Amino acid sequence: MKAEIIAVGTEILLGDILNTNAQYLALQLAELGIDVHYQTVVGDNPQRLENTIFHAFSRANIIITTGGLGPTEDDLTKETGAKYFEEELVLDERALKRMESYFYKTGRTMTENNRKQAFVPKNGKVLYNDNGTAPGIIIEKNNKILIMLPGPPKETVPMFEQQVKPYLAQKQEYTFISRVLRIAGVGESIMETMVKDLIDSQTNPTIAPYAKDSESILRITAKAKSEQEAEKMIAPVAEEIYRRFGHDVYGEGETNMQTVVAELLIQKQKTIATAESCTGGAIASALVEYPGISSVFLDGCVTYSNASKQKRLDVKAETLQKYGAVSPETAKEMAEGAAKTAGTHIGLATTGIAGPDGGTEQKPVGLVYIGLTIDGVTQTKECHFVGNREKIRTRAVYTALDWLRRELLK
Ligand code: ATP
Repeated sequence: MKAEIIAVGTEILLGDILNTNAQYLALQLAELGIDVHYQTVVGDNPQRLENTIFHAFSRANIIITTGGLGPTEDDLTKETGAKYFEEELVLDERALKRMESYFYKTGRTMTENNRKQAFVPKNGKVLYNDNGTAPGIIIEKNNKILIMLPGPPKETVPMFEQQVKPYLAQKQEYTFISRVLRIAGVGESIMETMVKDLIDSQTNPTIAPYAKDSESILRITAKAKSEQEAEKMIAPVAEEIYRRFGHDVYGEGETNMQTVVAELLIQKQKTIATAESCTGGAIASALVEYPGISSVFLDGCVTYSNASKQKRLDVKAETLQKYGAVSPETAKEMAEGAAKTAGTHIGLATTGIAGPDGGTEQKPVGLVYIGLTIDGVTQTKECHFVGNREKIRTRAVYTALDWLRRELLK
C-alpha cells in the first residue's frame, strides 16, 4: 500500500503553523509499514484541493488529509472528497447528537453552520471525535481509500491512534513492530560503529541508528505476521544491544532522561536538592516534569552570583577566590551545600561557562563542572560541551542527570 499525506489549510501554507500532523502521520505510517512517497500542503481553495486529491490518487491508493473539516465556508475537504468518489452527503444523526452534547459539555453555543460538520458521505465510515466537533471520515471505493481527519493535533492524533491505525493495520498482511532503545553518553557515530556488524547482517529485524537532542537512539523494527512474532524476533537483537552498551541504554520507547532519573529516585527513596548556576534551574525544572517527584525532590536553588553561592549554599569565600566560581572545588561545595541545607541524601550542582562571552584560555566557553554528593560521598566531573549557549546548557542538564542515574544504578 502506498499513501500520501495532504495537509489542508492556508495557515500551514503561509507558515503560520507548523505541519506537525504530517510529521506524526508519516512516523505512524512508517511504523505500519505503509510507504509514503509524497506529502502535500494545500490552502483552503476548493479547486486546488480537488486537483491535489486527484493527482495524489493517480499515484497512491491511500490518502490521509488533515484539516478543513470545520464549520466555516472555507472548510471544504469533506465536500471535495465526496465529489471525488461521487458520494452524496447525508446527515449522520449520531454525529449530530455527539456534537450537541460536546457543545453542551463545553458550555459553548452550537451555531447552524456547525450542523454542516455532521453531514457525511453516504457510504463513508464515520470516525467519531471525542476531542472536538468535526467527525473524521473514511471513504473506501474501487481500491482507493480517503481518510479525512480534523486539523487540530489534539483531535487528529487520538483519532488516528484509536480508529485509523487499527483500520489500516487489519489491511496489512504484515505488521511492523519497533522497539526504541535510548542511549546516553555515546555519540551517534560511535554507537553506529558498535552495532555496524548487526546492522549489516540483519534484514529482519532491521536496526536504524539516529541521534536526537543529547542522545543516540537505536530503533529495532521487525516485520511479522503477528505482534508476538515480531516481538520474539526483536528480543535477541535487543538483548545483544544491551550486552554491548550496558547502562548506556537508559530507557526504551517514549521516555526521557528526567523520567528515568525521577523513577529511580522514587524507587530508591533518595531525596535530592539541586544547586544550579549555568543551568539556571533547568535541572529542577526537568525533574518536576515528573508527577509525584515531590516525595524526593525537596529543594532547588539557582545560585547565579558568588554571593548567593555563599549565602544559600555555604560555599566558602576563599574557595571562590582561590579557584573561581567555575571550578571543581566550587561544584563540590555547591552540591554539599545543597544537600546539607535541604537535608537530602543527594545534592546535584552545576557551574560553568555557557557563553557566548566569559570564556578564557584556561576556562573556555563550554566548560562545566558538575558536583554530585550522595550519602556524604562527593564527586565532581569536568565536562567540555560545544555549541551555543542553549546547547551547552541543555547538554549540562542531560549529563548531570545521566551521571546521577548511573550512580544510582551502582
Ligand atoms: P476543527 O473545525 O475541528 O477545528 P478543521 O478540520 O477545520 O478542525 P482547520 O480549521 O483546518 O481544522 O485547522 C484548525 C487548527 O488545527 C489550525 O488552526 C491549527 O492550529 C491546527 N492544524 C491544522 N492543520 C494542522 C497541521 N497539519 N499540523 C498541525 N496543526 C494543524
